[in-house]
Amino acid sequence: MQFKRCVCGKSISSARNLCAKCLGLYGREPANWPEWVRYSAYDIQREWNRNRRHDELMVIDDTQVDDRWPHERGVGAAWDYILEEMV
Ligand SMILES: [Zn+2]
Repeated sequence: MQFKRCVCGKSISSARNLCAKCLGLYGREPANWPEWVRYSAYDIQREWNRNRRHDELMVIDDTQVDDRWPHERGVGAAWDYILEEMV
């Protein structure tokens, strides 16, 4: 899975810390986020990094890495992608 979670539970791309809505609410600068947002985002990032390392180890035995474009993964993934790109 190439998506991680926003602090609100929405799927976001791995390059982001917050979804479009939360970015609108809290801004792009982590220093200005409410404390719980910062803690949650850092927690999610830490978890993401751990899964990411796990994924990389798994790649040795698993060639089925999902490198398709979002629109090839289904309407849900494509829509998430479109929403994220609108930020
Ligand atoms: Zn969010």
